[in-house]
Amino acid sequence: MSDSDAARHVVIIGASLAGTRTAQNLRTIGHTGPITLVGAEAELPYDRPPLSKDVLKSDWSDEVVEGNRLITPTELDELDVDLRLGIAATGLDTVARAVRLADSTTLAYDVLVIATGAAARPSPWRPESGVLQLRTLDDARAIAERLALREPVVVVGGGFIGTEIAAAAIGFGCPVTVVDPVTEPMARLVGPEIASSLVELHRANGAETRFGVGVVDIRGTAGDLTVVLDDGTELAASTAVVGIGSIPGTDWLAGSGLTLENGVVTDGGLRAVGADDVYAIGDVARWPHAGRGLHRAEHWTNASDQARFVAAAIAQGAEAEYASSDYVWSDQYDWKVHTVGHRDPNGTSILVGDLAVDGRVAVVHADAAGDAVGVVTVNWVRALNQARRLLMTGGSARSVADQLEQLAPRAAA
Ligand SMILES: Cc1cc2nc3c(=O)[nH]c(=O)nc-3n(C[C@H](O)[C@H](O)[C@H](O)COP(=O)(O)OP(=O)(O)OC[C@H]3O[C@@H](n4cnc5c(N)ncnc54)[C@H](O)[C@@H]3O)c2cc1C
Repeated sequence: MSDSDAARHVVIIGASLAGTRTAQNLRTIGHTGPITLVGAEAELPYDRPPLSKDVLKSDWSDEVVEGNRLITPTELDELDVDLRLGIAATGLDTVARAVRLADSTTLAYDVLVIATGAAARPSPWRPESGVLQLRTLDDARAIAERLALREPVVVVGGGFIGTEIAAAAIGFGCPVTVVDPVTEPMARLVGPEIASSLVELHRANGAETRFGVGVVDIRGTAGDLTVVLDDGTELAASTAVVGIGSIPGTDWLAGSGLTLENGVVTDGGLRAVGADDVYAIGDVARWPHAGRGLHRAEHWTNASDQARFVAAAIAQGAEAEYASSDYVWSDQYDWKVHTVGHRDPNGTSILVGDLAVDGRVAVVHADAAGDAVGVVTVNWVRALNQARRLLMTGGSARSVADQLEQLAPRAAA
């Protein structure tokens, strides 16, 4: 790193996980130049995964919320960062190397990090009131307020976030129905072997599921909604929570010359295509993933890892290709679901253990050649840790499954 590199002004747009961690990593590595961190939300940066887990509970408290801040005011002082909260970036001029802000000022940069994440995909159904979505702390507050009424809730979307919200609503004591047009919505994430067990788990906890049917309309107002399904069924609900994916935060980059295709397209080093000294990281970035081609991940570990990677590239001139750990977790009631790597739709899977008997299970996913490409575990952290190591060294799915089998309680007995 040259002295002039260390003194460069780094501007980070988006003050959530990816943005905050970039600033922190830059200082840890020894970047001495100015850092400006700009965030559209007025809140001190906070972590999102707890919004559908610990935070969304009937015993919601400000203490839990404060415990999930990504940085404390004291740490912020020590970081020596110009933090500008409650102000959005509205445009980017890569030739002048300047970002336009919502207050009509401009911010010059030497290096720009785009970390504007994603927003909930807007609900196509917009009755006067009663339809909520979850992405921000304010969203979680609004949902908790409705769940506290213990009135019927329809959750639209049976992915991880939708089902976590459903579990939270059950925890509040609400009658809950989860609707999704796909017959096994979680199979895409965890494979059919575990998806069906997760559906059973939700049913056993009292959630109704209407899978394989879509929503065509939501009418009424909060407290008196009708959710109309495409098979003609009408579900009465007090609240509907719509969790149908997210869209990357790229609106402000229109006309900037960057390549925007379902995210900011980058090269393997996370440098935005179309400009110098501009990086994109976290949920907004779409980079060439070694196994999946251009890929945008919406997962915590990826955002955090990319922040570390880019900080090293900026402060140390590290020249490498970003390699994703592809690690995701979800809490479903008291089950801990972890996935590492991915599932090849053309491949096969091997089941290790029996959820019904052992209360834990692993599924090893193979590609068409039989090589292990991913592992999903439920309630089995030891197998997860072992799988992460084994996937790094490579090998057949059969050999990974055999080694995980050795950890199974019955094999150990
Ligand atoms: C409810 C919920 C539960 C989740 N649970 C899990 C989980 O269990 N496991 C997991 O792996 N992942 C989970 N995730 C995903 C994880 O939280 C995200 O991957 C992570 O937050 C991505 O961080 P990010 O900084 O890239 O983007 P974001 O967290 O989306 O942050 C982007 C920030 O940029 C700001 N911004 C946007 N546009 C502008 C602009 N023009 N100017 C200035 N600021 C702007 C936004 O306001 C936001 O604060 C969950 C997400 C949600 C919403």
